Amino acid sequence: MPRNLTSRLVLALNAGSSSLKFALFDGGESARVTDGVFDRIGLEGMRFTLRDRSRSHSEPMAIAATDPIGCLDFLLERFAHGGYTAFGGVGHRVVHGGTRYGPPQRVTAAMVNELRQIVPFAPEHLPPEIALITAMGERFPTLPQVACFDTAFHRTLPRVARLLPIPRRYEAAGVRRYGFHGLSYEFLMAELGRLDPNASQGRVILAHLGNGASLAAVRDGASLDTSMAFTPAAGLMMGRRSGDLDPGLAAFFAQHEDMTTEQFHHLVNHQSGLLGVSEISSDMRELLAREATDARAHDAVEMFCYQTKKWLGSFTAALGGLDTLVFSGGIGENSPSIRSRICAGLEFLGIDIDAAANRENAALISNASGRVRVRVIHTEEERTIARAVYRVLGLGTQAEETTES
Ligand code: ADP
Repeated sequence: MPRNLTSRLVLALNAGSSSLKFALFDGGESARVTDGVFDRIGLEGMRFTLRDRSRSHSEPMAIAATDPIGCLDFLLERFAHGGYTAFGGVGHRVVHGGTRYGPPQRVTAAMVNELRQIVPFAPEHLPPEIALITAMGERFPTLPQVACFDTAFHRTLPRVARLLPIPRRYEAAGVRRYGFHGLSYEFLMAELGRLDPNASQGRVILAHLGNGASLAAVRDGASLDTSMAFTPAAGLMMGRRSGDLDPGLAAFFAQHEDMTTEQFHHLVNHQSGLLGVSEISSDMRELLAREATDARAHDAVEMFCYQTKKWLGSFTAALGGLDTLVFSGGIGENSPSIRSRICAGLEFLGIDIDAAANRENAALISNASGRVRVRVIHTEEERTIARAVYRVLGLGTQAEETTES
């Protein structure tokens, strides 16, 4: 076979329960060609958005695909039209690595089999992710694939944060706190290290506030605690997920509402959170626009801010003080109102927001007099994935020669 330049075109795929985000890089994680998202897959109003290299132009459109594989094929066809057919590697966000998988690594048949075994750990996320890995393997049999685990960032959780207060035999079966949003947290810590190397070694709280929302307490660069637990439904209330609840509710609903396990799962993952409380929407922007005239929207927004404030307080205690607070995710990056409501009254912790900087979504929004530096950082999980692919596959900054097999 002729010796070919290995393509350094890397595709990063980030499948959620009903969305598929992607980004295409050519020659390094800083060289993004395009990125975008399929939203509301399989639901009414599904949309596909493709952004150009500068992200100045985006092109939303309705498409017919009804599942992640249909979206993938649509995407590959678009790429083929643009001449992007020979990938050097593909990286996948894999929400759960179970007890076995930590750092990013090449996908193998054994790994896919093991991921199938732990689907019950993340029944909403793992099936579409496994399906995408399998589909890419079928379409490009020799293409190396890299799995990037969202749980990996939290492998440093100390035992006291990792154990759940239930009979200890369950720990052996893998029932414990794992934590999620790890690819986002890894990106945020790398950014923080670039902006302020000392701060990244200090006491940090990362607040990823999007449709899914969680907080992580990080000390000396290592995750010390996080609000999500065995599944991503735990912790803060989110767009549609309840977050932490009284465990007694499961039995109460079973006995008094004849609620099945599936119905309970659906309730806490799809009908709760901002949507459940507001009865209007899971979308924070919409609730902020409605809260002056609708008490239900107001309740939902207030609860979200109150809960985030409580988690901030508890993680500050766990860290023994706080040096840096980072807001991220769609809500954390874009909503001055939510950030200021979360931080209101926390001056006693050293958190003091500058109103003008906050209004402008500035990178640093704390007052010079505040002890805690409060930052807004745009997170990019797809870039963390691409970084891992270039590293794991050794695609490096120079084109490498290999023999095509
Ligand atoms: P995902 O978790 O699916 O990646 P995002 O991180 O994009 O989601 O966050 C989506 C959330 O961010 C939605 O609730 C949306 O309303 C909210 N959001 C986006 N922009 C704003 C804004 N300007 N003000 C308030 N909320 C916003």
